[in-house]
Amino acid sequence: MTAATLTIDLNAVVANWQALNALSVSEVETAAVVKANGYGLGAGPVAGALAQAGARSFFVALAEEGVAVRKAVGNDPAIYVFSGLMNTDIPLIRDYTLIPLLNSAKQLVKFRMGLPDAPYGVQIDTGMSRLGMPLSEFIMVRDKIVKADLIISHLACADEPDHTQNKQQLQHFSEMTRGLSMRRSLSATGGILLGPDYHFDLVRPGVGLYGGEPFSNAAPVVTVSIPVIQTRNITAGQSVGYGAAWVAKRPSKIATLAAGYADGLIRAIGDGGMMVWAGNVPCPIVGRVSMDLLTVDVTELKRVPDHMEIINPHQTVDDVAKAAGTIGYEMLTSLGGRYKRDYVNG
Ligand SMILES: *Cc1c(COP(=O)(O)O)cnc(C)c1O
Repeated sequence: MTAATLTIDLNAVVANWQALNALSVSEVETAAVVKANGYGLGAGPVAGALAQAGARSFFVALAEEGVAVRKAVGNDPAIYVFSGLMNTDIPLIRDYTLIPLLNSAKQLVKFRMGLPDAPYGVQIDTGMSRLGMPLSEFIMVRDKIVKADLIISHLACADEPDHTQNKQQLQHFSEMTRGLSMRRSLSATGGILLGPDYHFDLVRPGVGLYGGEPFSNAAPVVTVSIPVIQTRNITAGQSVGYGAAWVAKRPSKIATLAAGYADGLIRAIGDGGMMVWAGNVPCPIVGRVSMDLLTVDVTELKRVPDHMEIINPHQTVDDVAKAAGTIGYEMLTSLGGRYKRDYVNG
């Protein structure tokens, strides 16, 4: 058994959902975004745990992603699809009772033709210019979507509370949806933290459930533990890894671990001062990150353990992401298929 292990604490995911839920009043529903295979952690187990804890609505990016979620949560919860209706989606939407968030008048017409009586939602563009009907298009269909069960939009700058675009988008959303009777949703994790004006009828956190910024009070969800393959003693002046980029200044003990950039531990973390942990003792990564291997200076350890951790409560997904010049979202979704995924469940 040499694969690195990704341990996912489903109790922490549930605790994060409950903590985010507690930030809005009880009339506001807190849904869960489980797109991209639950941000890389496993959409089925995550959605299953949240459904058991009381989550009633889930969001995915693509209709295909809804299948695993439907199987995990049973028939009752709603599963919304952000991309709306793409070419081959009708059978999936019908067979798995998914609810597309229609993004254009064209998607609306196609949906009406394919599934005249099925439920749907609508996504409008309030300033992000990415998905959803812009105002000019929305005005034309406003009277035809009265039976939609949800209308959503997405904030571009919610992780920067002082950004002026937050208030602008809030105002556009309020004006565009005024007088409509269906439920309204504007906020993901960042928007929940902006306060009650942004909550409307339903909030839809993703990254905060998985322990990531901007939800800084989140319980840590992910631990990445990597087996040590071998250790060696080198003399001062000997180099480690590709490009001989790191040279020992003193006699050193180097451990080689079985995970690399093919496991989402992207090459840029090699220069970021990241540690790998032996229990509570941090040991620096030295040399370049290889595709399948990491090299670590374990000179200070009395005993080298079988496994060492690169993501844990001492060094979070966001810490590693920052060292690599990226964000927690990208780090999480890059962790990849080679890990053994272990679920801790209460
Ligand atoms: C990904 C996404 C979310 C969840 O965003 P987080 O920042 O992860 O909470 C919500 N709504 C839309 C439209 C999204 O694309």
